[in-house]
Amino acid sequence: MLEVDAPATSAVAVDGRSDDDSVLSKGRFSVYQPEQEGLIFPEIPTFKSVGEERLYRKTHLVAACRIFAKYGYDYGFAGHLTVRDPEHPNLYWTNPMCVHFADVRMSNIVLADHSGQVVEGKYAINRAGFVLHASVHRLRPEVMAMCHAHTSYGSAFCATGRPLDPISLDACSFFEDQAVVGKNPGIVTVEGESGIDIAEAMGGARAILHQNHGLLTTSKHSIDAAAWWFIALETCCRAQLAVEASGMKIQLVPPELARYNRKHAGTSFIAWLHFQTLYNHIAKRQPDMFD
Ligand SMILES: [Zn+2]
Repeated sequence: MLEVDAPATSAVAVDGRSDDDSVLSKGRFSVYQPEQEGLIFPEIPTFKSVGEERLYRKTHLVAACRIFAKYGYDYGFAGHLTVRDPEHPNLYWTNPMCVHFADVRMSNIVLADHSGQVVEGKYAINRAGFVLHASVHRLRPEVMAMCHAHTSYGSAFCATGRPLDPISLDACSFFEDQAVVGKNPGIVTVEGESGIDIAEAMGGARAILHQNHGLLTTSKHSIDAAAWWFIALETCCRAQLAVEASGMKIQLVPPELARYNRKHAGTSFIAWLHFQTLYNHIAKRQPDMFD
């Protein structure tokens, strides 16, 4: 399952089914699901055991790290991605410290608790990572997965202390679903409780813009969705910086249309679906990630 509290046979979180209030044909819950039968389309996973589900989450965490490398989201040892363990929700899987996103693999990810103790794996974890992520995972039990990295456009946009505007269909996914955190701007979250400010200020937002620091994304659904929101958020920051730098007058999507877009193109299922495109691409080309 991809949802914390869903029954073991369910694979899609409730908020992934909120594309449309109407009942679609043939049991579909998204208009993106093909009506025509027999076509190739990403299968929503179901799991026979918690072991299968753990393997899925770990594999997709590793893939997300490889994809972050492909997009150039590395900055030395900065950047951390986490996903809860399906059996022990107080533990989370994360990428190892001082291992490039491109070198993350199944055999070097680590399982840690909320105090930063590694309970499985040989590598250390990132101090700032566990302070930040553990605070969110501890204070927000609904958060399944979280991503953070020091990216160029996200860091630049976060210097403005402003939220993203609905300048495009893609940006509408963050309309009224983002939090700008201006408290302790730019502080490195290495002290025990310093991640709490962010965890408290984020509300239920999928996107957090930490002023003078960078981007964080969360998902109640999956590491797939959290990673996709991060990629989308960085891209939207780039687009807004570009259009503002152009000096041209900007037309915004009206609020009611922005909400409509978020409802239909900004669900967890859609984020998961976007990520499958990237997962299938990277899994074929970098099979060593499974080692
Ligand atoms: Zn950081």
